[in-house]
Amino acid sequence: MTKLEGLIREIIRCEGPMRLDRYMGLCLGHPEFGYYMTQEPFGEAGDFITAPEISQVFGELIGIWLASAWTMLGSPSPFRLVELGPGRGTLMSDILRASRVVPGFAAVADVHLVETSPRLREMQKTAVSRPVTWHTTIETVPEGPLLLVANEFFDAIPIRQFECRGGHWFERVIGITDDRLQIGLAESPARPPMPGGAVIEIDEARTAIAKVVGERLRAGPGAALVVDYGHLKSAPGDTLQAMRRHGFVAVTEAPGDCDMTSHVDFESLGGALARGGATVLPAIEQGDFLRAMGLEARFAKLSHAASPTVRQQLQRAEERLAGADQMGKLFKVLAAIAPGYPSPYPFESS
Ligand code: SAH
Repeated sequence: MTKLEGLIREIIRCEGPMRLDRYMGLCLGHPEFGYYMTQEPFGEAGDFITAPEISQVFGELIGIWLASAWTMLGSPSPFRLVELGPGRGTLMSDILRASRVVPGFAAVADVHLVETSPRLREMQKTAVSRPVTWHTTIETVPEGPLLLVANEFFDAIPIRQFECRGGHWFERVIGITDDRLQIGLAESPARPPMPGGAVIEIDEARTAIAKVVGERLRAGPGAALVVDYGHLKSAPGDTLQAMRRHGFVAVTEAPGDCDMTSHVDFESLGGALARGGATVLPAIEQGDFLRAMGLEARFAKLSHAASPTVRQQLQRAEERLAGADQMGKLFKVLAAIAPGYPSPYPFESS
């Protein structure tokens, strides 16, 4: 049993079954035993690989998007360049390098990283070789013109789940049955009934963050880019998942030692950005976004000078990022901007 599981059992014994958002929050973020505090999540030897770790091209294209958005906003100086959940710091480092094609951008960027893990902050410090300010929440990022990016951040923010059984709604909770952590059902206030067995996910912690981003964009000028796996339209379904060594495990297995996420509901996230006051552009698939930003030309350029082995690696990376059966369709990209500005390429207003 992990140390965190011992602690969670203790809480359940004292207080009764635990809501999923609290469980997920402890698994990922407990200051001592949480996944992001203790584990090495990323890469072949870790539990999963994210787009910036697959290829530098991902961060380069995002850097070009952010720098172009900055130009479109009138090149505000200085401005806050903010990343939510920067992981190893690879994306920010690639953004700053690639954005040099837009003179002035990197020079006047005031970099703020929203990160809760001290371990990952250390890695970010090494990767981003310039002064940055860390925050545990977006609320403390100073106001002012904003360019914000979040890749695979919102999927790690805790959710709640509700299940409709026999016309009644229950909240899915973590309890102890047969001396094991198990998902159970707790009484929950009435909602309109749905067909048998339906599970819905409530992403209130995610939308709270998105609304703050929306408010910052309304105060403007600014733009935000959110990349994650998930669905364009809200729909019922259980998407909570735990991952270890590149494979799925039960969410109740080895809490604190596995990554835990759920798919992002882009309709809901977009709604929250709009409620905050931002103009939200309909999300598009990652493959379409990357190709529109010049994925193929960039990979072709890198391949040109490469050895046959490296060329093969590059080809695999390109397929992984944009292939329809890989990240290309499952991952979506959503942009939000300060009201009153034209839609930044390749997004189209609704
Ligand atoms: N963007 C990176 C890392 C994704 S993993 C990449 O694409 O590789 C999720 C990141 O969000 C980690 O850096 C994790 O420590 C951070 N994180 C998770 N929950 C957080 C929270 N509530 N507040 C701030 N950062 C959080």
